[in-house]
Amino acid sequence: MDSFITLFTLFVALIVLVISSEWRKRIFEKKRNERKDYYRNKYLKSEEWQRKRHVVLKRDNWTCVSCGMPATEVHHKRYARINIGKEPIEWLISLCKKCHSEKHEKIETGNSISSYLKLIKGL
Ligand SMILES: [Zn+2]
Ligand SMILES: [Zn+2]
Repeated sequence: MDSFITLFTLFVALIVLVISSEWRKRIFEKKRNERKDYYRNKYLKSEEWQRKRHVVLKRDNWTCVSCGMPATEVHHKRYARINIGKEPIEWLISLCKKCHSEKHEKIETGNSISSYLKLIKGL
C-alpha cells in the first residue's frame, strides 16, 4: 500500500509540474503577443520610431544592407523585451522591401522548424 501512495504522489507531482509549465508557457506567449501588438499598433506609428527609423536609414546611406538597392524599410534584428522603443540603433538595419519580407519569411520558417523539433523531442 505504501508504494502505491508513493507512486500516486509522484504521479500527482508530475501532473502539477506539467500543468504549471504549460501555464507559464501560455503566459509567456500572451505577454509576447501583447508586446508584438504594442510594437505594431503603437510604437511603429509613433513619432519617436519615425525619428529612429530616419537615423538608421541615414546611417546605412538609404541602402539595403543585404543587396545594395535603395532601402525603404527598417528591420529589428532583435527587440527590446522591457523598455520597448529603447533598443539601440545597432539592433536596427535598413532593408529594401524585398529583402525585408525575405528576412521575415526565413525567421518564420526557422521558428516553425525549431518548434517542430521541440515537439519531436518532447515525444
Ligand atoms: Zn535588399
Ligand atoms: Zn523586420
